[in-house]
Amino acid sequence: MESLDGLTFADLEAELSAGEVNPIHAKALFNRLHRKLLTGTLAEDSDLPPPVLRWLKQEGAPNRCRIEPSANRSSADGYTRKYLLRLSDGAEVESVLMGFPGRFTACLSSQVGCAMGCVFCATGQMGFSRHLKAGEIVAQAQHVARALRESHSDSIRNIVMMGMGEPLHNFEPLMDALEILTDTRGLNIGPARVAISTVGHLPGIQKLARHPAQYSLAVSLHGASDEERGKLVPINQRWPLADLLDACREYSALKRARVFFAWTLIAGQNDSDDHAHRLSALLRGMDAHVNLIPLNPTEDFFGRPPDEFRVRAFQKIIFESGLPCTVRQRRGIDVAAGCGQLKSERIYRNGSPSNKIG
Ligand code: SAH
Ligand code: SF4
Repeated sequence: MESLDGLTFADLEAELSAGEVNPIHAKALFNRLHRKLLTGTLAEDSDLPPPVLRWLKQEGAPNRCRIEPSANRSSADGYTRKYLLRLSDGAEVESVLMGFPGRFTACLSSQVGCAMGCVFCATGQMGFSRHLKAGEIVAQAQHVARALRESHSDSIRNIVMMGMGEPLHNFEPLMDALEILTDTRGLNIGPARVAISTVGHLPGIQKLARHPAQYSLAVSLHGASDEERGKLVPINQRWPLADLLDACREYSALKRARVFFAWTLIAGQNDSDDHAHRLSALLRGMDAHVNLIPLNPTEDFFGRPPDEFRVRAFQKIIFESGLPCTVRQRRGIDVAAGCGQLKSERIYRNGSPSNKIG
């Protein structure tokens, strides 16, 4: 059963109605859950109307999502904090708070582990345990938002689904969670400020293209031919490049939106001038933006990031082909070591005391 935190506003109204409580009270309850970010059962909250309190105490009424901090660590640079959160079954996921100039971004997980098996990724190396429920995705954001409110009296502005797991492999719960997080009656994150990063889950991209919400889409490529990509991203065998790019073009056309492409740079494997030329050729004619991420070394992958000079040379070729291209430095590499995915946009140059977390 879905937790109270994982019910969209409409679901909450429906649940109240089913429990013979006037659905008008959904607003008060939603406000306490997602705007005031209250913890606990809420069943003793004397500001809630008595019928709601009675409903919350009833057997069979949805419970709060239980999520306990089991550790948190700030990066040495002070702009990233990683939270390890324990779910009700003991499984643990990571959420990350990142401070950028003028804004804070939460990076959330969508699954415990991941079934996609990308060879350089720490989560892929763990294998797949289970999908997260909508409430478990929402609860991560609530946790990070509470911490940020306490430390900085500030709120999250952006959400990136770049933590553990493949978000589009867990489509419906993800859509419910994002509906809740973008609800203006709750945390009120602008939909355009939500980025969904996918390994290239083809059916998921097709569904997202037809979904009414305008989230931004990032597709992880890492290789410009099936052969090269398949070595890093095994799921390429199932959803080959040509089909993936067709789905991206369709997404871009239906949504009238730019698609972001991530390319993890691995020295000697996909960082040559030739790779950069072939990547530009692949994306020619598309409304695309390329994000380069120098590899964050992980335990089971024998690879290293290219040096700064190679990264810049690669970026220059993409640029000169007419595509916007950003280098994302590995974010808080010291705290991120277990995750292998945490990165940032030139954080050392852009950092300022106001968004320092640690
Ligand atoms: N499953 C989704 C989202 C989570 S991974 C996806 O693959 O897109 C988020 C991003 O981190 C992806 O672009 C992924 O390729 C990248 N990534 C994973 N492990 C990495 C590592 N060790 N070094 C650098 N980037 C990594
Ligand atoms: Fe899964 Fe993304 Fe890691 Fe690939 S990179 S294993 S899709 S989390």
